[in-house]
Amino acid sequence: MNKAYIISTGTELMLGTTVDTNSVYLSRKLSDLGIKVVGKSIVGDSAEYIRLAFQTGFQSADLVIASGGLGPTLDDLTKDAACQVLDVPMELVEEEVQRLKDFFSRWGRTMPESNLRQAMFPPGAVILKNPRGTAPGMYLRQGDKTVVLLPGPPREMTHMYENEVEPLLRRDFGSDAGRVANRTIKVLGLGESRVDEILAEVLDDPQGCSLALLARDGEIHIKITAEGKDGADSLRILDEICQQIMERLGDYVFACDEDTLESIVANLLAAQGSMLAVAESCTGGLLAKTLTDIPGSSQYFWGSVTCYSNQAKERILGVSPATLEQYGAVSPQTAAEMARGIMTVSGADYGIAITGIAGPDGGTESKPVGLVYIALQDGQQCQIKEMHFVGGRDGTRILATKTALDLLRRRITGGKAG
Ligand code: AMP
Ligand code: MG
Repeated sequence: MNKAYIISTGTELMLGTTVDTNSVYLSRKLSDLGIKVVGKSIVGDSAEYIRLAFQTGFQSADLVIASGGLGPTLDDLTKDAACQVLDVPMELVEEEVQRLKDFFSRWGRTMPESNLRQAMFPPGAVILKNPRGTAPGMYLRQGDKTVVLLPGPPREMTHMYENEVEPLLRRDFGSDAGRVANRTIKVLGLGESRVDEILAEVLDDPQGCSLALLARDGEIHIKITAEGKDGADSLRILDEICQQIMERLGDYVFACDEDTLESIVANLLAAQGSMLAVAESCTGGLLAKTLTDIPGSSQYFWGSVTCYSNQAKERILGVSPATLEQYGAVSPQTAAEMARGIMTVSGADYGIAITGIAGPDGGTESKPVGLVYIALQDGQQCQIKEMHFVGGRDGTRILATKTALDLLRRRITGGKAG
């Protein structure tokens, strides 16, 4: 597998004022091409540290991709540093000088001398066009090393990568592009260590396969990369491993690759021709937001009522005051009445209700922060799930939203309650 090293430059990345999203984007893209990212450096606008990063990069990989520091000012040092480390000279490229002059004259200005630095390139470099900015990028093969320089602003960088760089990478590193196959299996409702155990059982001999686990917001994503003799062989290895993993994980698996929990639920509802209505208390509308993030969701999503106060639960959903009095707003009884209430108001096929204590205050010994009841009502039955979430107010809301969607997914697909 070809190896790459990524460098992000910029003092703003050192100060914490800008998050390094460029390297995350490039990691994903390179991995899709079957190029293995073996390391990254994030350095400020310092010639010394940028050179050090390139030295480290070329020691560990044949391909080094850097972003940032291609501008005309004195703190734009990336191209100089890369050329010094590769020991290649730079010369003025007349076409680029003209392009810069044209750019300035279009705005009625003369080009400052310092901008000429942007027109200096080593011989043999491919100059990468930047229609979204002024700093061109560079693609250079030097011996067995390849360096790619991209501008820092993400909208310039991603455009240049997609239009200029990826075709060159496919050409030069293409042997692996179709050879490696990967898939992401997404799981909800199991802990990371449990998933790890299950994977260890499946992969006691992980020949030709590598795995990466990513846990986020209650979801666990298992990225499986298979590397066989050729594309077909890799796909065969991948299918075999994925099938074994899916068998073990059963209906904890909710989606693969680009699919999300909400897109899966949306597809299920649309396929059934069913309508969903939602009553939300502690999630404050997050479930509705998640569903309506998908364009066209009015086809299967009736809407949501955020019933935060007892009054709203009584007046809008018809929850009985006696239930609220006797069991409290956060109780299975209230959740059930909320779900029934929203079904009645909407006439939908499914009603989901969420009531819980998101915190940080409001918890008691018997009803601690993180306690959430989720009710799912359909024409026949009401199913109630009691959950104890950790992760603070935001975490509780996110996990409650996902658990509610998952409950519906399992109901429609006929899976176990989990
Ligand atoms: P530069 O090409 O160095 O002039 O970068 C200009 C701007 O791009 C910076 O001010 C940042 O806002 C943005 N930027 C640079 N590097 C990154 C990065 N690695 N991730 C996200 N944004 C970045
Ligand atoms: Mg910069």
